[in-house]
Amino acid sequence: MNNRENKNQRRGNSPRAAGPGRRPPVRKKPRRGRMVILVLVLLLLIAAVVFILWGVFGKVEVGSDDISRTPDITTSATGGNTSAPTSGDASGTTTAAVTTTTAVPLSPETAKNYRQPSGAAWNLVLVNDFNAVPAGYEQNTTMEWVSGGQMDQRAAESYRQMLADGAAYDIRGVSLFRPQSLQESLFSREVAKWKGQGYGQEEAEQKANTVVKRPGYSEHNTGLAADVGGSGNYSLNQDFENTDAYRWLIEHCADYGFILRFPKDKEEITGVIFEPWHYRYVGKEAAQEIMSRGLCLEEYLCEKGL
Ligand SMILES: [Zn+2]
Repeated sequence: MNNRENKNQRRGNSPRAAGPGRRPPVRKKPRRGRMVILVLVLLLLIAAVVFILWGVFGKVEVGSDDISRTPDITTSATGGNTSAPTSGDASGTTTAAVTTTTAVPLSPETAKNYRQPSGAAWNLVLVNDFNAVPAGYEQNTTMEWVSGGQMDQRAAESYRQMLADGAAYDIRGVSLFRPQSLQESLFSREVAKWKGQGYGQEEAEQKANTVVKRPGYSEHNTGLAADVGGSGNYSLNQDFENTDAYRWLIEHCADYGFILRFPKDKEEITGVIFEPWHYRYVGKEAAQEIMSRGLCLEEYLCEKGL
């Protein structure tokens, strides 16, 4: 062993240099450990800052693809009323990008079970299986004749304007305001239909309720809802989704204060099948938020506590 080799051994340049009695360099280990801790702390700090900023400016972009476009018809078996949409479904006819402003999104169950406090603004009144038309509503509302029937006069002008601007698609009203007495007879007729197919009273009522709402639980009892057709389809079926009239409506209805009330991907919350023909007046501001964020009315009202 000459002098040079000896030096190398001492510096540890050769892997074989460290003999059994020689200790490897010890200083590196704790230093690396401290570095790792430092990096972790830094990462935690960055995460905390991002989290705080997120909370302050809280806007999360959610692509519409996150939302299943497959109609969950099974949640509301309705007999012949559920023609399956065509496979060309992803044609951009449904809602555009969705933005949520809450850090914690509402669960469908919470939105579904929302009970609207009394004293809601007239245009935001919630009517569904859990929220009946407020007592005396019908008596205190002035209706006006428009295309397809009667509508709350406060919404009538917007409705007329929407139909006028969508004239190229020949959009017309088919069914609008229904007095509760009429709702009663429609509902009994539907119940009878299901009983005729062998269902008992209670089951028949449940089935009927997915197609025609119980009296007092239909938006049509408010004068704020309109079933419309266009582009040659006035029979209120799901094929309406494939018409130009529908495409125009979902793109523009919010400009007139209307929303698509029963969207395809919200059946679990609304309890109603996808109804491309049913539009509801809520006023421009609410309509624009609801349509641009791809919400249903229950979600909007529940989130805002309105
Ligand atoms: Zn309707």
